[in-house]
Amino acid sequence: MNRRELLKQGATMALALSPLSALSAESIPPKSIREKPLPSKRPQGGVRIVVVGGGWSGLAFAEHIRRYLPQSVVTLVEKRESFLSCPVSNAWLFDLVDLEFLSHSYLDGANTHGYTYLHAEATDLDSRHHILKTTKGEIGYDYLLFATGIEYDYDVWCRNNPTLEHRLRTEYPAGFIAGSEHLTLKRKIANYHGGNFFITIPRGNYRCLPAPYERACLLADYIKQNKIKGRVIILDANNRVTIKEEGFLRVFKERYSKELLYISSAEIVSIDLDRKVIETEFEEVEFVDGSFYPNVRAPKLLERLGLTTQTPYNRIEANLDVYTNRFKGHDTIFGCGDLRPMGFSKSGNTAYTEGANVAKIVAKAIAKKPLKWVSPTTFCVSLVSSMPQQEMTLLSEYTYGERGETQFKYTSSDEAWDRNGLGKAHAQFSWAGSMYDRMFYL
Ligand SMILES: Cc1cc2nc3c(=O)[nH]c(=O)nc-3n(C[C@H](O)[C@H](O)[C@H](O)COP(=O)(O)OP(=O)(O)OC[C@H]3O[C@@H](n4cnc5c(N)ncnc54)[C@H](O)[C@@H]3O)c2cc1C
Repeated sequence: MNRRELLKQGATMALALSPLSALSAESIPPKSIREKPLPSKRPQGGVRIVVVGGGWSGLAFAEHIRRYLPQSVVTLVEKRESFLSCPVSNAWLFDLVDLEFLSHSYLDGANTHGYTYLHAEATDLDSRHHILKTTKGEIGYDYLLFATGIEYDYDVWCRNNPTLEHRLRTEYPAGFIAGSEHLTLKRKIANYHGGNFFITIPRGNYRCLPAPYERACLLADYIKQNKIKGRVIILDANNRVTIKEEGFLRVFKERYSKELLYISSAEIVSIDLDRKVIETEFEEVEFVDGSFYPNVRAPKLLERLGLTTQTPYNRIEANLDVYTNRFKGHDTIFGCGDLRPMGFSKSGNTAYTEGANVAKIVAKAIAKKPLKWVSPTTFCVSLVSSMPQQEMTLLSEYTYGERGETQFKYTSSDEAWDRNGLGKAHAQFSWAGSMYDRMFYL
């Protein structure tokens, strides 16, 4: 399926899932694309807002802040040349969508929403003088947002063993940060002709809870269809399936009993890449190929800047106030997306709706109006088979307990993959298509 086919379907699903549906399309300011960093001069009647990270959250923030504050000058600093979506990338691994569907131009997003895309990496911060340092120069800001996503935390497996870490990163990439890892994973699958193909799942609040299970199902589906003498082995460090448990366990059993082996509580104690053996507390697993998904953490840049903290979920996450998304101790620096310390699902719809919410918080802070926290919305669709296409969905919102701990306000899932009409309706592709439209074209 490609973008054009999807547009024909008139997909509008995500409109109901985002705060944007409550907004009117206010006057979109003139287009502005610049190659160089903005001068530090303050625009007349407006504020300078710099967004670091053009993923789901940074793009949502940039889009919404331009709507809330049409006078503002917004610069998106992004180190990638173009956007590549992680959501739906599992389907792409198995040729269910083409790369054109997942790839988008930052210039299109900037043109549509009236901000500047600066292709550069943020490297340092002088918060006293409100200056962000990038590989293309310095940018002055009044308000700064970090939406830099996650990095991998290989420490659990590779402490004091940089060679092992390097080999895991390059030879068995996780495929949970968009880019070359996905291309390598796709090549691995194309070259896979049998034997054990493993997928590991870490503990903690890792990025996109259902995605490794979804990937394993699609690989099992591929093994079945191509009559490959092999199986996918899920080594899950958790003691049970972390999400959509009933649906996934049923699909493992009823559809892929020969092609998929699920092992829970599979904490890895050693990895021997030369012998191709993974040792867990309970067994040794031989493999021909696979993908190691380590724990996740907030990016090292934030740690270096003193902007991180430890949480019950992960070792290193952004040190944000959970009600305002402000970095603690910094009035004008905000953060959102998967780097957050809150226990929300680290997923695209969550990151997008949170980015939109934080834009409102920043606009209100500038107008000196009272701030009101609103929950982001988690919405995710997991594919479990390709022919026929079958899917499960989950929808959640959050609240906080007395000590600011994350709780579910509600959650509902449809795990009846063999009975619901979601797969036939291509719910995952419709949702993603409508999100790309919002971030880049509408
Ligand atoms: C295989 C897979 C399937 C998934 N499926 C779904 C799904 O079906 N539904 C769903 O809702 N979610 C899904 N997700 C999760 C979703 O992709 C993430 O939760 C989402 O991308 C998080 O958005 P973010 O903006 O926080 O981070 P990202 O999207 O990772 O964006 C961070 C951006 O910051 C940039 N950056 C980082 N550091 C710097 C720097 N110093 N300077 C400049 N730029 C920088 C990066 O290049 C990147 O573009 C999936 C993820 C994977 C991997």
